[in-house]
Amino acid sequence: MGGVTSTWTEPSDSPLTLLLLGKGVDPASERGVDCPGELPAPSDPDLVARATAAKAALGDRVFVLGHHYQRDEVIRFADVTGDSFKLAQQAAARPDAEFIVFCGVHFMAESADILTKPEQRVILPDLAAGCSMADMAVLGQVETAWEHFEDLGITGQIVPVTYMNSSADIKGFVGRNSGVVCTSSNAKRALDWSFEQGSKVFFLPDQHLGRNTAVLEMGFELDDCVLYDPHKPKGGLTDEQLINARMILWRGHCSVHGRFTLDSVREVRERVPGVNVLVHPECRHEVVRAADFVGSTEYIIKALDAAPAGSAWAVGTELNLVRRLALAHPDKQIMFLDRTVCYCSTMNRIDLPHLVWTLEELVAGRVPNVITVDEKTAHEARVALDQMLALP
Ligand code: SF4
Repeated sequence: MGGVTSTWTEPSDSPLTLLLLGKGVDPASERGVDCPGELPAPSDPDLVARATAAKAALGDRVFVLGHHYQRDEVIRFADVTGDSFKLAQQAAARPDAEFIVFCGVHFMAESADILTKPEQRVILPDLAAGCSMADMAVLGQVETAWEHFEDLGITGQIVPVTYMNSSADIKGFVGRNSGVVCTSSNAKRALDWSFEQGSKVFFLPDQHLGRNTAVLEMGFELDDCVLYDPHKPKGGLTDEQLINARMILWRGHCSVHGRFTLDSVREVRERVPGVNVLVHPECRHEVVRAADFVGSTEYIIKALDAAPAGSAWAVGTELNLVRRLALAHPDKQIMFLDRTVCYCSTMNRIDLPHLVWTLEELVAGRVPNVITVDEKTAHEARVALDQMLALP
């Protein structure tokens, strides 16, 4: 690839440069806790040297996980990168690491805590790094919905399925109701299994992944899916709708992937003839329908690795990842699907100052920001996770 210059063009700034999550705009959906320590200044020129020294001092005692959507400044210190499920598995595969520093968001650290040994400590460098999608399904709301389904006499037919991007509480709910966790890679397999166990699925918390999988991969009609809105009495649905539905979708979505629209697809096709549109299944149904390829983060990475030189790709997923992929493949024209910047702002809260602070605290013998799931919830969540691992 020598001599090839990257074709990457930064999306333009707009008033929507960063989604305003984690800024006190929606306290109900934010973890919102302050960092308890003295963070180094972002302008400190020694941050890289400090992180390098602290990580070296900790050696094998620490294992740093970096989600694909993290900033470059953090990813460079990750021992392994991946999507949420791969990272949880990687954490479980390091039983000797005393500390798992999870550069990701809250639900991911919870999953790592569930899958690691009790004596290992999972640390989230900024406790305010939540996930807006996971926070859209709160246990009390989900239990209220389930009670309503019980009143209708339909729980015996329903298998609850939750996306990996959900809190440990929700995974626990699914585990104790004989359901399964899924990822964006195995959602179809999880739904196939679920429809062998019952005639309906209650899909949490991402309506788009549920709908896209059911309609585009399994042949259901859009009318087979209903949207349960936890902010409306009885979900905003009639008894008849719930009784007839095959897929009861929770009204949740990813604030990042939900940004892409049909106009984004039309605009890029006009601007770049022959472009391949590649999107994540958390995107809206009409966007996924209009795309050429759809798949998980790992699928997107592999598709771009395998793409021929000279091909053009408009990618609908988080911007940090798309930029890194574009810079890694300068012989391909890789662009962001939208014209404006779109990061996962809660994921972006984990920056180099937070990582330096975390590692230096560990060196000093203090363990900050430990994420712990209580044993009962962890046990029930593990049932749903194990069911996923046992999927045919
Ligand atoms: S990209 Fe979306 S689903 Fe992923 S952590 Fe951010 S808000 Fe949550």
